[in-house]
Amino acid sequence: TLEDFTMGELTFSIIKPDAVANNKIGDILKMISDSGLKIKATKMIHMSKTQAEGFYAVHKERPFFGELVEFMISGPCVVSVLEGDNAIKRYRDLMGATNPADAVEGTIRKAFGAGIEANACHGSDGPDTAKVEVSYFFSNLELVN
Ligand code: ADP
Ligand code: MG
Repeated sequence: TLEDFTMGELTFSIIKPDAVANNKIGDILKMISDSGLKIKATKMIHMSKTQAEGFYAVHKERPFFGELVEFMISGPCVVSVLEGDNAIKRYRDLMGATNPADAVEGTIRKAFGAGIEANACHGSDGPDTAKVEVSYFFSNLELVN
């Protein structure tokens, strides 16, 4: 059918260093799969300081920027590209609130987040950022069809 050849919306995900260190990669990828989002690409990386500063450049004026960069380079991450109808919002909903204390039951951050910084995951917040973030870590050749 035509649907088989139509790409749904793409979004970009990071399983952050806290969740990787706590052995939650499998649990989080399972939550993503169970939600119906399709994993188009995934890999483990350990960001350099320059890479992390570039990725979070939109936050460079915020007081927590330095700490956030140090946290993101403190260990390996799992970066993924997810696909589905309305994938950006669906993945934001699955992650839950930025502060795990405010996240609702059933969300990744409620289950695995320790605090407002070590909150287990990242997801793109809109179509423009999704595009930039996917291409920051993946080439088109790495996305399965
Ligand atoms: P989200 O990841 O939910 O889109 P933001 O874009 O506002 O949240 O922030 C990016 C990341 O910066 C958060 O996921 C979190 O790891 C960290 N962060 C946000 N606010 C704070 C804060 N007040 N103190 C420390 N770290 C923060
Ligand atoms: Mg954000």
